[in-house]
Amino acid sequence: MAHHDQLTRLANRSLFRDRLDQSIFRADRRNETFAVLYLDLDHFKPVNDALGHDIGDELLLCVAERLSRCVRNSDTLARLGGDEFAIILENLSSSHSASSVAEKIIAAISTSFEIADHHLHISTSIGIAVYPYCGNNAETLVKNAGSAMRRAKQAGRGQYHFYTSDMNARALDELQMEIELRQALDNKEFVLHYQPQMSLVSGKVCGTEALLRWQHPQKGLIFPERFISLLENNGLIVEVGQWVIESACRQNQRWHAAGIDVGKVAVNLSGRQLMCRDFSKNVAMILKKTGLDPALLEFELTESLLIKNTSVCSDVLGALMNLGVSIAIDDFGTGYCSFNYLKRFLVNTLKIDRSFVRNVNTDAADSAITTAMIGLARDLNINVIAEGVENQRQLEYLRSRHTDEIQGYLVSPPLPAESIGNLIYLMDYRAHKYYDTMNLSEHKMQCPPAA
Ligand code: C2E
Ligand code: CA
Ligand code: CA
Repeated sequence: MAHHDQLTRLANRSLFRDRLDQSIFRADRRNETFAVLYLDLDHFKPVNDALGHDIGDELLLCVAERLSRCVRNSDTLARLGGDEFAIILENLSSSHSASSVAEKIIAAISTSFEIADHHLHISTSIGIAVYPYCGNNAETLVKNAGSAMRRAKQAGRGQYHFYTSDMNARALDELQMEIELRQALDNKEFVLHYQPQMSLVSGKVCGTEALLRWQHPQKGLIFPERFISLLENNGLIVEVGQWVIESACRQNQRWHAAGIDVGKVAVNLSGRQLMCRDFSKNVAMILKKTGLDPALLEFELTESLLIKNTSVCSDVLGALMNLGVSIAIDDFGTGYCSFNYLKRFLVNTLKIDRSFVRNVNTDAADSAITTAMIGLARDLNINVIAEGVENQRQLEYLRSRHTDEIQGYLVSPPLPAESIGNLIYLMDYRAHKYYDTMNLSEHKMQCPPAA
């Protein structure tokens, strides 16, 4: 009795507070998010005043009943008093998002109620506060959900509003995205696309770079620029990165087993992954599990990552190299050039950033720097690959400076795994014929001399 509302039998204010403390505790422990929804009925008072308290009570009972059908058993539904209700939505996900539940509730309450021969029309305004972004304790969450509810009322009733203090629309989008990202791995929404790398010596594909995409059930294909930093900030990159390595290794093994010579597969790494204890052991395990030859795996690390974590990096890089895996420096030239790593032979490949390649024919500085980087790599006996090659003039320039490999839209954009086999077959068959039949006139490329 002390914990339940007499009329509706829902949790009362004090039980709601207890549950909220438990939700915070649980969310912290499990690294989950939850939302507090604060509801106030619109136009309830006129009904109560005009038709009397018995009808008003009956209406509140019906509202409570409809609300309970919009939430899960594990959620908490409470009546805070009068015509105010509150809900804790546990463990948010794309199918159980605060906005989808709020929409369901608004629709449920705006359907008319038939009580004692009266057709009653009311609606509800909802304020939403998501833990921990909209408050890190119970009191603040309830207060912020309440002020979001008042804003929803001002905006015209029958609506829901998220609490926003300094959050702009973008931050809210990211918030929603982060909630959904937590589920994406379990829901198998991540996919890898592969971009071929072409040898300028043989004209054949000599490797692919695995690039992560998120196949969102509603929003379609989302590119990494929009979500990698979120994954890095919340630490999920470790788990997702592990999935990337394993999937890329398995795919490459599958190609090789099918006799499709795609060379090595390159996988991008984030700092957090490298910092994990046992990273190289995990890689060894994946190689064993998938049966991929270590020589067919390369990791790409950016310069800034190497510089920030110097001592850890050299240990891990050493261990990876002992496994027989190769290391590439990604976006070379854009950070602090890591000559120290080059000198200590901890690197197999340099990837010249596409910002240099873009204007290599027109900008004297870009051209001088690109030539110097290629020369440096050659003198140190390091493989050099130019990124972002989009046209034939860039290709000709790079070939004249003896770049080993190129990667870019001129050869192919990143493609789903299924398309790679065909591409390689066609390129091996006759590269120029492929480009001619595709009629990519602006991309028309002369086949580099065969080895
Ligand atoms: P990145 O490692 O520099 O990857 C190359 C990016 O350039 C890819 O973008 C690719 O689609 C794009 N690109 C390729 N050829 C051309 C071209 O000719 N012109 C232009 N303008 N762009 C080209 P994408 O796939 O959107 O990936 C963006 C970044 O996201 C990657 O940059 C990488 O830093 C990161 N990323 C992708 N997958 C992963 C992953 O599995 N783990 C981690 N940690 N980062 C990843
Ligand atoms: Ca890369
Ligand atoms: Ca790059």
